[in-house]
Amino acid sequence: MKKSNNTGANGEMTRMDVEHIFKFRCASNVPCFTDCCRDITIVLSPYDVLRLKNALNLQSDEFLDRHTIIIRREKLLIPMVVLKMNEDDKRCPFVTEEGCSVYADRPWPCRMYPLNMNDDGTFSLITDSSRCKGLEENDKNRISNWLIEQGVPMYDEMNHLFSEVTTPLKAQELDIDNPKIYQMTFMSLYNLDKFRDFVFKSTFIDRFELDDLTIEKLKRGDVELLKFAFDWLKFGIFGQKTFQVKESEKPKGDPIE
Ligand code: SF4
Ligand code: SF4
Repeated sequence: MKKSNNTGANGEMTRMDVEHIFKFRCASNVPCFTDCCRDITIVLSPYDVLRLKNALNLQSDEFLDRHTIIIRREKLLIPMVVLKMNEDDKRCPFVTEEGCSVYADRPWPCRMYPLNMNDDGTFSLITDSSRCKGLEENDKNRISNWLIEQGVPMYDEMNHLFSEVTTPLKAQELDIDNPKIYQMTFMSLYNLDKFRDFVFKSTFIDRFELDDLTIEKLKRGDVELLKFAFDWLKFGIFGQKTFQVKESEKPKGDPIE
């Protein structure tokens, strides 16, 4: 097996910082073109789902039904949402002869490939040049620039907001097995069209202090709505003061139910 241009002499993983320059170029004339879009596990974040369902012009629940596998994890409130590969050839449903048909809205892991971000903020290669021939090319990429070219920062921003919900859950090892809370959490994160109905077609607006500008933004943009959903969960699960109940509505029971 050939060593990649970022693997140490003993084959250990090399950690690279954002200013590191790595050699890589992916194009339709590489012999492995689209090989990496097959038989892989791509975990989708709420923002990945939002981008993909809009790119495909699907409602959130249609997208979830057709294109994902939802894996419940014991004692964890948030399931794993995985992109479903084709049953027959195990290829990604979005790959074509010409490449990725959802390229502008491809998920975070596809943007990062062949890099991965480590917990300490460094980067490493998740493959090598025996499989990814793009790593044999001579194009030099500074990681910081390359991430911007791949459109990663917006995904990182949204994933950071998502982590403000997931990190405290992990830290507190909250054992929430109330099905209503699970359903509300799942809807808020992954079924944004249903969450929009929940906000605008229930008594929600009557119960919380929301100014007109915020309401208008929520009506217009999915990104604002997802950020709002993160805040809603922080309020509902952790009791953070991200929402204010209208005086006329106090006191009420558990807000998330
Ligand atoms: S394996 Fe590497 S070079 Fe080949 S198509 Fe995928 S990213 Fe491009
Ligand atoms: S979404 Fe696009 S880049 Fe990602 S695996 Fe599918 S075809 Fe490949």
